[in-house]
Amino acid sequence: MNLVLLGAPGAGKGTLAQQLVAEFGVAHISTGDLLRAAVKGGTELGVQAKKYMDAGELVPDQLVIDLVKERLAADDALKGFILDGFPRNTMQAVTLDSELSGLHRELDCALLVDVASDVIIGRLSARRACRDCGYTGTAADETCPKCGGEMYQRDDDKPETIANRLDVYEKNTAPLVEYYRGQGKLKIVDGTGAIDDVYARAKEVLGL
Ligand code: AMP
Repeated sequence: MNLVLLGAPGAGKGTLAQQLVAEFGVAHISTGDLLRAAVKGGTELGVQAKKYMDAGELVPDQLVIDLVKERLAADDALKGFILDGFPRNTMQAVTLDSELSGLHRELDCALLVDVASDVIIGRLSARRACRDCGYTGTAADETCPKCGGEMYQRDDDKPETIANRLDVYEKNTAPLVEYYRGQGKLKIVDGTGAIDDVYARAKEVLGL
């Protein structure tokens, strides 16, 4: 399974990826998670990336591409991978295609998690993440249901940044739907409703 997850911020890509990883044992490559870890670790990459992330802008392509290349080459990605939050623009998509062909691999499909924008805004405002394990929950979770860690609101889920992130998505990332449709690789799942229902629909669409 070599999969790209497409969809607006808050569409549920991360949750779906975690479920697929738990069931099928493939690698979860989330550029957002990798970048947040770099920021938390205070690395050079983290320092460079933070200002873009806080503003809801895309981090420069080369920084993100280097991260993904490294993860794709790691042992756990040999069995398969789910890319979550990458590619975010056409340049990244083209680079991914050429990188994979250099590795004699290719994408099976790009799955669009489709959710209407009013639902997205509600979800992002209510979203909370665990500081320790990265679990994604909601404002109703006082502590992390997985590890008991502290739940917090990501800076980029604050109202002033959400609007910009959605703009950036429409301008830069939404065109990838046509890119993958043109390659005959696009599949679409309705991302609304209960988490387990979305997962069941996704597996059906993916033929799993
Ligand atoms: P996410 O967790 O996927 O919503 O990503 C959080 C933030 O990390 C984004 O708003 C961007 O600032 C940055 N980011 C994540 N993935 C990428 C990417 N593929 N290209 C550029 N910036 C990214």
